[in-house]
Amino acid sequence: MAKTKEINHKERSHALLSASAANRWLACTPSARLEDEKPDSTSVFAEEGTLAHEIAELKLTKYFHPMAKSTFTRRLNKFKKRELYQDEMLKHTETYLDYIKELTINLEQQPYAAIEKQVDFSHIAPEGFGTADCIIVADQTLYVNDFKYGKGIPVSAEDNPQMKLYALGAYTAYSLLFDIQKVHMSIVQPRLDNISEFEMTVSDLLAWGDEIKPIAEKAFKGEGEFVPGEHCKFCKLKATCRARADQFTALDDFGGKKPPELSNAEVGQVLEKAKSIESWVKALKDYALKESLKGKEIPGWKAVAGRGSRGYVDVDKAFKQLKEAGIDEALLYERTPLTVPKLEKELGAKQYRELLEEPGHVQKSPGKPTLAPAKDKRMAVTNEVSAEEDFK
Ligand code: SF4
Repeated sequence: MAKTKEINHKERSHALLSASAANRWLACTPSARLEDEKPDSTSVFAEEGTLAHEIAELKLTKYFHPMAKSTFTRRLNKFKKRELYQDEMLKHTETYLDYIKELTINLEQQPYAAIEKQVDFSHIAPEGFGTADCIIVADQTLYVNDFKYGKGIPVSAEDNPQMKLYALGAYTAYSLLFDIQKVHMSIVQPRLDNISEFEMTVSDLLAWGDEIKPIAEKAFKGEGEFVPGEHCKFCKLKATCRARADQFTALDDFGGKKPPELSNAEVGQVLEKAKSIESWVKALKDYALKESLKGKEIPGWKAVAGRGSRGYVDVDKAFKQLKEAGIDEALLYERTPLTVPKLEKELGAKQYRELLEEPGHVQKSPGKPTLAPAKDKRMAVTNEVSAEEDFK
């Protein structure tokens, strides 16, 4: 389908000013150099994500370029043998593939596609480069697509600096070969049902690049002010950063000569800070545990063994023995009905409607009022009942 094939099998590596950390070093310029001094850490989740990306890469390659079915199956089977492989990876990578298919199916021109392509944006951020999951060029548009396997928080493509840096790198690489007027950026997070898209003109993208260039240069030199905020969440200094700690300890300012009770405005401010305090305290606890386990002292705290657990060595063997000993099966298993959302997922929307919703087996009740940030999409509710409604 596509004109050329370009796959980058280079190990994923990171620049000092990486695109994925751009929201951090753009807001807090000294963070990049300081993070660079800390060792890299990986997690099972990150490794799962890498495997899911490899499967997605294989599927997209097969979609854009001719590949024998036997080659595809052999490569997929190799992934299936990996320790972290889970069947659900097939489903989620399929959602991503479906999105890319939908994106390309109505294009007037035959698309050019590059998968897992290393893009260089060092003309904006010194030594900056990154790996874009899927770049497509067609119909005067540069499509930059990002597949995120995580299921932590939904990420928006709107004005997303990571996406814009990839786009700047891709534009530099392809603008001599193709006429590009527009940039379309998308983030696909199948495990969160999140597909976010954002579009901008090339001139706006280039203007943004010029705007951040001096900030990137400052970040590269490790200069500027520490600015704590939402972006601290994934910073390697998130636990021990003084600027972050100062931000929270400044809550004491509410004392002094002010009235003994907080005003509603102050309650709002404290809750705003509390959103980040929770994750900061968790980061501090994780850090203190690691230090304690290394034998270092954190005054007032120590590491202890957590509550142990018991499990079957081989559940089949154990239950076989119980049954042979005459223990009634009813005693061994619990039978609980699936919840409505789970059953809907199992049955599919149509059957769920026909068998459960339409005959009146499902009752909907409003959720208990809960506090949410003002930007939450749900409508605000109050306990106030209007006189008219009361009368009715
Ligand atoms: S924790 Fe926040 S304030 Fe501190 S260096 Fe990292 S990004 Fe900057």
